[in-house]
Parts: sequence; structure tokens; C-alpha cells
Amino acid sequence: MTRAPRTGGCNCGAVRAVFRRPFGAAGYCHCSRCRRRTGMGSSASAAIARAHVDFEGADAMRAWSPPDGSQKVFCGVCGSQIMSQRTADSDTVFVRFGFVDGDPGVRPTFRQFTADAPPWDPVPDDGLPRFAGPRPA
Ligand SMILES: [Zn+2]
Ligand SMILES: [Zn+2]
Repeated sequence: MTRAPRTGGCNCGAVRAVFRRPFGAAGYCHCSRCRRRTGMGSSASAAIARAHVDFEGADAMRAWSPPDGSQKVFCGVCGSQIMSQRTADSDTVFVRFGFVDGDPGVRPTFRQFTADAPPWDPVPDDGLPRFAGPRPA
């Protein structure tokens, strides 16, 4: 049985994506950078090989590259968050759940940077493995 591939897109429609394989490991990040870029207490992302993602409107994509962390990629027109990546040519990208149309088909299985969780959105007691800093590789 063939299923249509999952898709994703930003608020304004400038950036669209087709995900040609299922997503891999997914988790929540509670770091201060995710808090600022989303306005939320945490952010869920899922791994996928870049080779399995087709982007449309890639010229609208922008990235913030902190000197000591992964690049945060977003739509330069509407600001929707798209993904993170260690570098522009990393083999794996981490797609934001909110960028995916409908159900991404995976669920977060860990929480990282829990030490940075803000007091107004404490880490929930959901039994997921927690890491005070980045999830160990
Ligand atoms: Zn957009
Ligand atoms: Zn983060």
C-alpha cells in the first residue's frame, strides 16, 4: 500500500516541503533559544535525512547561526519555524512539528535542556526521559 508522503509548510506559503520517508527520533527542547524563537516553553522536532526532504521556496529560507549551537531555519517572509541543523550541509535535519501538515506520525520520546525550562511552563511529569542539557548522542 502506498501512502502519500507527509508535507509541511509555513504560514505564508513561501516555503513548502515534502517528506519522502517517515520521521525518526523526536523530542522536546526546553532551551532558552527555543523559548525565544517560538514564544513557548518548549519545542518539538523530529529528525529526518536531508536527502529525503524536498523543499519548495528554499530561497525564502533564512537561518540564524549561533556560534555555539545549531542553525535555526525559518521562513524569511512570515517567520514560521522550519527546522534546525548543525550546519548548512548536515546530513540530518530536525523538522519542527508545527511546520508539518497534520500528524507527523511520530511522538516526542525525550526532553532535553530541561534545566532551562521557564517557571511559567514547568517540565510535565509524563515519564519521558529527561536531560538537563542536550540529549547525549
Ligand atoms: Zn512563510
Ligand atoms: Zn532548544
